[in-house]
Amino acid sequence: MELLEKRIISEGSILPGNVIKVGSFLNHQIDVKLLLEMGREVKRLFEGEKITKILTVEASGIAVATAFAAVMDTMVVFAKKHGTSNISGDIICCRTHSYTHNNDYNMVVEKKYLTGQDRILIVDDFLANGQALNSLVDIVRQSDAELVGCAVAIEKGFQHGGDKLRQKGIRVESLAIIDSIENGEIRFRK
Ligand code: 5GP
Repeated sequence: MELLEKRIISEGSILPGNVIKVGSFLNHQIDVKLLLEMGREVKRLFEGEKITKILTVEASGIAVATAFAAVMDTMVVFAKKHGTSNISGDIICCRTHSYTHNNDYNMVVEKKYLTGQDRILIVDDFLANGQALNSLVDIVRQSDAELVGCAVAIEKGFQHGGDKLRQKGIRVESLAIIDSIENGEIRFRK
């Protein structure tokens, strides 16, 4: 999506470990109009698919998911992050690893929010190695709901998490895919 690519080029910065900082429109300050435009593009990409709910993970996925849900007229469920593995009750849980914080945590969703009537679109702001999306896929598979696919704002293609998910037969749509960062220059997949 050209609009998003232009914003990444003009406002993004690259931190050590190829972490991309887009705090001016996505991760700190939020350009809601841009996010709604991105939502319209995701709606177009998934035209013809019935989607009843969007699933994301706190914290940075929530803004993107909420904007997409406003356009697609769905509810949003966000997985909560818990440091403890000592969780019981009607809860679905998946252990995962945070790319940006370099620690392990549990993603937790109350089972009642993912029902047998639900068709789920997983949404996140970034896709790198794919740990977050794989865990969200795992949560959907543990529930009675059906997975439609995943929609991501920015995929870092050079970390191959997206390609591995696609190889497993999961539909992954990313609005901007960065294939390389060399000497500070960002190249997008065309
Ligand atoms: P993965 O689990 O695919 O390795 O990483 C995706 C998760 O880590 C996303 O939920 C996102 O919040 C965070 N993340 C990964 N790479 C980046 C990045 O370059 N910039 C930002 N801001 N977040 C990232």
